[in-house]
Amino acid sequence: MSLIVQKYGGTSVGTIERIEAVAAKVAAASSRGDRVVVVVSAMSGETNRLIKLATDIDQRPDPREMDVLVSTGEQVTIALLCMALKKIGCPARSYTGGQIRILTDQAHGKARILDIDDAPVRADLEAGRVVVVAGFQGVDEDGNITTLGRGGSDTTAVAMAAALKADECQIFTDVDGVYTTDPRVEPKARRLDRITFEEMLEMASLGSKVLQIRAVEFAGKYNVPLRVLSSFEEGGGTLISFEDEGMEEAKISGIAFNRDEAKLTILGVPDQPGVAHEILGPVAAANIEVDMIVQNIAEDDTTDFTFTVHRNDYQKALEILEANASRLKAREVHGDDAIVKISLVGVGMRSHAGIASTMFETLAKDGINIRMISTSEIKISVVVDEKYLELGVRALHDAFELSGEMDP
Ligand code: ASP
Ligand code: MG
Repeated sequence: MSLIVQKYGGTSVGTIERIEAVAAKVAAASSRGDRVVVVVSAMSGETNRLIKLATDIDQRPDPREMDVLVSTGEQVTIALLCMALKKIGCPARSYTGGQIRILTDQAHGKARILDIDDAPVRADLEAGRVVVVAGFQGVDEDGNITTLGRGGSDTTAVAMAAALKADECQIFTDVDGVYTTDPRVEPKARRLDRITFEEMLEMASLGSKVLQIRAVEFAGKYNVPLRVLSSFEEGGGTLISFEDEGMEEAKISGIAFNRDEAKLTILGVPDQPGVAHEILGPVAAANIEVDMIVQNIAEDDTTDFTFTVHRNDYQKALEILEANASRLKAREVHGDDAIVKISLVGVGMRSHAGIASTMFETLAKDGINIRMISTSEIKISVVVDEKYLELGVRALHDAFELSGEMDP
């Protein structure tokens, strides 16, 4: 008998019909003898609707009251799902985050889970009941309702699975798994049967939005096997777990890309100790996150310095650089917010030389100019002009044979 945690996202519980379909799936798992804990999101669109109500009153609503408000979405779903389960003869009981004491810190709107009281859940499971838990919410030590950040129900599911030492945490969503790349960009993209936590983290942080990053980190930390599956179609989905022997063959698992990038260059700054800090210090002080950083070899005692930021921070970062340019004795400041980052991700990369050269060769063949490059153990990223995104991703997908089809 295994213990599984299943999480259903907003679209999967978006209507009464869908909630009834979820109930049927849950009841089927339960009647196979599995002990099932279900975590649900709010019905699709509901969290946004609630946020709009609040911002119609105040653009910056009180954070405590905001959490009281937005946590109600999930409370609706747990009740409806339990009703649907009982109607088809499956005993079930719902709990809000506060009721099972999903204890979090006090950071309203982005709280972190500290502890979960698994005793009431275990008692229900022993009694043969399905336990339905509201995702996205918890309670702080003073009993205030907190929420975990957008997409936080994934994290609730993983945390429940970790606390209960579940055999698997299954995330049911509107896609049937994790793909080699975004199928909207490359229709030949293939669903992966398996991927490692490390790779999934890179894919998630590089802009593939299947899972909340925090949920993947949590699952990796507590070694919770995580599976992404479709709530609408049958299939094995994608299992996210630690590396094992069977996974060694692929050099590259996937291609991630990020359209939300912008780059800034400050030219002709003195090549002296402290300059990097003087350039980036004010940027960091403005709470702007910097991603890639490149500094040129100095020529005539000056150097050029380029870095990337989120596109939303572009204007602000540019203003900061321009304001500091004369103090830094810079010759010029440049910016470009029509760039994208494309990354190859794969644990197999560690043991295979030549991945980078194949990547650069492939892009060169299509006349795609690489503006920046960065590498880590399991990833190589390039920055290219936005207009080359589709072409670049498809060319790389072919070059690394990710579609898994034989050449005709
Ligand atoms: N309902 C929340 C949101 O829309 C949490 C979640 O769905 O995971 O962000
Ligand atoms: Mg979600």
